[in-house]
Amino acid sequence: MPSYVIASKCDGCKALDKTACQHACPNDLMVLNKETKKAYNQDPAMCWECMCCVKICPVQAMEVRSYADFVPMGASVTPLRSSDSIMWTVKFRNGSLKRFKFPIRTTPEGSAVPDGGFSSTDDLKSQLLFTEPASSGMKELPPVKALASVA
Ligand code: SF4
Ligand code: SF4
Repeated sequence: MPSYVIASKCDGCKALDKTACQHACPNDLMVLNKETKKAYNQDPAMCWECMCCVKICPVQAMEVRSYADFVPMGASVTPLRSSDSIMWTVKFRNGSLKRFKFPIRTTPEGSAVPDGGFSSTDDLKSQLLFTEPASSGMKELPPVKALASVA
């Protein structure tokens, strides 16, 4: 079931041009009401329940109405991110709490190489930046012409 914003917690990401939930949503569903400074999901029927917005919100103002097979009825699940892990807090309807902490990366924060090792382009928007050389099994990028003939 779709995401929703807890208005009393949302601070509109302190009036940034684009809020964290807007950046995170792969379906461009999140909108900021500039007058109230509160975000909302503009089309809940299109929500994939991916929880990206829930995980990115810096003040835990977003939730997803989870299905009962994942979250027992009446319970809630809230993520809290840090630079190297994410903590999920499960609150059951009887008030008891359980917390689960998982690592979210295997390399130091900030160590990702934006071009993935392909140094032939400086344009981070290039369609050629699709994966790292090692995982693709290629020593270098194929020429654009060759890619077009494959497609
Ligand atoms: Fe509000 Fe959270 Fe969205 Fe920021 S990320 S606008 S605080 S719901
Ligand atoms: Fe977008 Fe996913 Fe949040 Fe739904 S749960 S609003 S698809 S980021």
